[in-house]
Amino acid sequence: MKYVYVKDSPEKFSVNSIFCVGRNYIEHAAELNNPVPKSPLIFLKPSSSIIYDRESIELPAVSREVHHEVEVLVLIGREGKNIAREDAIAHIAGYGVGIDVTARDIQQQAKEKSHPWTIAKGFDTFAPVSRFVDPAQIPDPANISFELFINGSLRQKGNTREMIFPIPELISYLSTIFTLSPGDIIFTGTPQGVGKLHPGDELHAVLGEKMTTLSVSVRSPQSCQ
Ligand code: ZN
Repeated sequence: MKYVYVKDSPEKFSVNSIFCVGRNYIEHAAELNNPVPKSPLIFLKPSSSIIYDRESIELPAVSREVHHEVEVLVLIGREGKNIAREDAIAHIAGYGVGIDVTARDIQQQAKEKSHPWTIAKGFDTFAPVSRFVDPAQIPDPANISFELFINGSLRQKGNTREMIFPIPELISYLSTIFTLSPGDIIFTGTPQGVGKLHPGDELHAVLGEKMTTLSVSVRSPQSCQ
């Protein structure tokens, strides 16, 4: 069982479903030569892929190209089905920052064969997540900046105002299909600048004005055996 935490709160959430949104930033869709979707593109990650601050991403031996995708995370705190856009924010228990680690070569093969992305997105350690921030500290969810530094240099930078499908719309859309429950996490999509990870890389993701941060390193599979 994996848990996530809201900063300065005694509450912990056992992780339920992990929903991810593909191509939610126009420039990222363009950098991978993907069309801009007309409705949100949704996939899932297994909860077993979660790791935390100060842990490490393990590069699987079967991939030659594992990419970082820094994303804003939304933690659901209240159950709901068919949630209206204007009610969506009330279902949020926290905001965080995470990395949707992706075996890009395996994903590319899956796309070519029209296979699902589950393996490319789902290895152990492929979902590093920060501690979450109380929504009261985020006055405007449509204006959250976030950044990813690798070995000290800025590699990805985004703001939720650039989303094709903003957070309330994502929650509303997901809830037309799935009953949302406390402990559900939404990875809301990555901005441009994705790239390959190497053993020894140090990743540092920041949400807003350092409201929460996430530091993880990268290791090859050999180093842990
Ligand atoms: Zn992603």
